[in-house]
Amino acid sequence: MDHVLANALHERVFAILNQLESPHTPETTRLTAAWRALLNLHEQTDSGSCKACGPRWRKHMCSVWRTAANHFVRHERRYSGA
Ligand SMILES: [Zn+2]
Repeated sequence: MDHVLANALHERVFAILNQLESPHTPETTRLTAAWRALLNLHEQTDSGSCKACGPRWRKHMCSVWRTAANHFVRHERRYSGA
């Protein structure tokens, strides 16, 4: 997966999580905190792998990021085929 595209997706997902967190309620805070923790565990490494899933990221986003992309940014730019 293209590194620039991965960074753009990363920024977009985290921006959307910030939006979802507003207004702050115990539920939204817990939910977005859980997503951030999960996504951080599945960060892309410098070599292009997923920290948790390994080098599969290089060709396709790992399932965690695919799920985040599908649910949070699917109405915007398409990342899945990139
Ligand atoms: Zn992963």
